Amino acid sequence: MIVMKFGGTSVAGNTQIDNVLDIAKTRLDAAPVLVSSAMAKVTDGLIRISELASAGKKEEADKETDDLIARHIDVAKAFLSGDNLVAAIQQINKLCGEFESLVRGMSLLKECSDRSYDKILSFGELLSTTLIYFRALERGFDAEFLDSRDFIKTDDNFTCAAVDFAETNAKIKEIVKPKTNKLLIAQGFIGSTDEGVTATLGRGGSDYTAAIIGAALDAKVVEIWTDVSGIMTTDPRIIAEARTIDKMTYQEAAELAFFGAKVVHPSTMQPVIEKQIPITVLNSLAPESAYTEICSEVPEKGLKAITKKKGIILVNITSSRMLNAYGFLSKIFSVFEKYKTSVDLIATSEVSVSMTIDSEENLDEIKSELSNIGVVKIEKDKSIISMVGQELWKDPNFISDVFKAAGKTEINMISMGSSETNLGIVVNEANSQQTIIDLHKLFFN
Ligand code: ADP
Ligand code: ASP
Ligand code: MG
Repeated sequence: MIVMKFGGTSVAGNTQIDNVLDIAKTRLDAAPVLVSSAMAKVTDGLIRISELASAGKKEEADKETDDLIARHIDVAKAFLSGDNLVAAIQQINKLCGEFESLVRGMSLLKECSDRSYDKILSFGELLSTTLIYFRALERGFDAEFLDSRDFIKTDDNFTCAAVDFAETNAKIKEIVKPKTNKLLIAQGFIGSTDEGVTATLGRGGSDYTAAIIGAALDAKVVEIWTDVSGIMTTDPRIIAEARTIDKMTYQEAAELAFFGAKVVHPSTMQPVIEKQIPITVLNSLAPESAYTEICSEVPEKGLKAITKKKGIILVNITSSRMLNAYGFLSKIFSVFEKYKTSVDLIATSEVSVSMTIDSEENLDEIKSELSNIGVVKIEKDKSIISMVGQELWKDPNFISDVFKAAGKTEINMISMGSSETNLGIVVNEANSQQTIIDLHKLFFN
């Protein structure tokens, strides 16, 4: 079997959905499971609706809700007829009825719990897959609609739920039965808790769903179909000359994703690594164009891609008491642990520690507790620019080239991961764009 995951832009409307089914048709002999995101911009719309409703802006929330429902009904009418149209409209109305009563409840209570938020967000994927399913039937596919909440089992950490793999793998094997010449259709991003309450896996989580299903069923490949030709040397929206990377390792892809390349969700690689199932990243708008294969071993070493993560806060702690003292770092980390804040990059010297975090939550409390350890300096509006590739250090010119290209910018911090797969530099957000352009030009032109 194979898994084919399509992102929001790939299922943005009736023509795009037909294009997706054209692609799926070429893979029917491989017993595909199609995993889909919500239609483009729908998840953002649902978030806005929940914000408006819980802020008591009922009229605005209702207007956006009506538009969102109409968009799905319009797509159904554009490519369905007869019984398929009737059944699709019935299903859309059923989902939207639930959705509207939830929004009504939020408007009345003027609150949105994480649990309600996840429920609201789940309608995006449920609606898009309903449309894909009925269009597949209309076009004569042998198709089956699956509700991913029946087999993606999670904890109750709503908005970013953790997957219970033992439970999930067993359920997938029980429920998802791929077959040659049959198209199974399931939602990305959503799952449910032990009690059957809807939960989501975090923004961009549909890629992760695809990998979870692929790993459970020993897929031949997990295909991530998106709106660009694979993983590129940098975000093509920043630099049009970015080139497709032919092959990269799971670790390179995970580092790249974690440090800002939105093209795959950072967790996607984790379920498939053990079984060494390849992931391919392909362009649904140009299926024959270049693509990327992610696998365990790739001969090409050296820099493969540059990425940026913005909204970074730099935390610096200086203390002369650090000299020759032990237990210092653990004291610092216990503060971050207490406030459940994860540290991305770290650099230490004898008397100071620099770290980056990406959330302002509890920042005042963290600062105040760290002040008991040393002098704390906090700087906001930073970006991490990450350079990712295998054995970066082995090239003696690498670091001098980085400085040659990025030297015009003030660099606040440098951190090299022990795996030698990632060199991160922290710069002012305002300079980050130009720094990426300069680095990309030097390394890839
Ligand atoms: P989907 O909706 O298909 O999941 P996403 O918007 O989540 O798609 O991810 C695709 C986008 O990722 C591209 O449009 C591109 O702008 C962005 N991106 C960021 N970094 C990279 C990169 N290194 N290579 C390719 N795309 C990238
Ligand atoms: N629809 C969800 C999002 O926009 C999940 C996904 O697209 O992967 O975050
Ligand atoms: Mg995505």
